[in-house]
Amino acid sequence: MGSRTPHPSEVAAHVRFGPDDQLAARDPRDLSIGPGDRSRTEEATARLLGTLEEWQERLYAAGTAGSARSVLLLLQGMDTSGKDGTVRRVIGAMNPAGVRIESFKKPTAEELAHDFLWRIDRVMPSAGETVVFNRSQYEDVLVVRVHSLVEESEWRSRYERINAFEAAAAESGCVLVKVMLNISPAEQKERLAARLEDPTKYWKYNPDDLRERGFWADYMAAYQDALARCSTDAAPWYVVPADRKWYRDWVVANLLVEAFRRVDPQYPPADFDVDEQRRLVAALD
Ligand code: AMP
Ligand code: MG
Repeated sequence: MGSRTPHPSEVAAHVRFGPDDQLAARDPRDLSIGPGDRSRTEEATARLLGTLEEWQERLYAAGTAGSARSVLLLLQGMDTSGKDGTVRRVIGAMNPAGVRIESFKKPTAEELAHDFLWRIDRVMPSAGETVVFNRSQYEDVLVVRVHSLVEESEWRSRYERINAFEAAAAESGCVLVKVMLNISPAEQKERLAARLEDPTKYWKYNPDDLRERGFWADYMAAYQDALARCSTDAAPWYVVPADRKWYRDWVVANLLVEAFRRVDPQYPPADFDVDEQRRLVAALD
């Protein structure tokens, strides 16, 4: 474990996934770049969340004044990998007024009647927004590929279409942070078992998850291709070690801080005469 707290850009570089990287070589229990044990990591996360809250308000403020910049955090991962937990713990620290969460489930009949990017395009961030995708367009090259829901030629064509779509979004001011929450099968088993031990967690348990678990190797092959083919400079992929929730939260918080830092949103200057308004307010009854 590291003895100092690394800069968010170092954390981002450590978990970035490139076109030649292997998902199988990424350890879901890796803690190597963290600030230390659980309590030190949680303290570091708390500081990062404070920073994030401020950055996110700046982004929102800049959006009201005409800046087109926005941030999109895209979360993918196997069942129980912690997509919902990441939203609660990391995004929960921000002001809900400027944040929107979008979850993508099995497509509706209307969605299926359109191109796979149709439902995505409709909910992309607008100026100043911070948006989280809980699952995403990548389901259309993951679950869809694993279960042969469309022809192979169709899903194969989607990697390039996703890249073009994301490049256009980046071009128009959106910073994309694509996170794969990487859990081990052993950790998934623990989490499924824990849900069955606690009646307040039954609602999170889905018997279908056991069937999907049976396709683990196929999912990993599909993730490997999605991550390698769609990790671009405009929209890089990050593989986050997710067996420890506290470490996962710390890494994702770093990735978001780094994204906001790159945007560097500024509070807009007043578009009125501040001194005059001060005098008017002071003279109020
Ligand atoms: P959950 O996120 O666990 O509530 O489940 C949502 C389910 O919807 C998952 O099983 C996803 O694989 C599935 N899903 C999401 N997008 C698609 C898609 N484009 N095609 C088929 N299934 C999808
Ligand atoms: Mg599920």
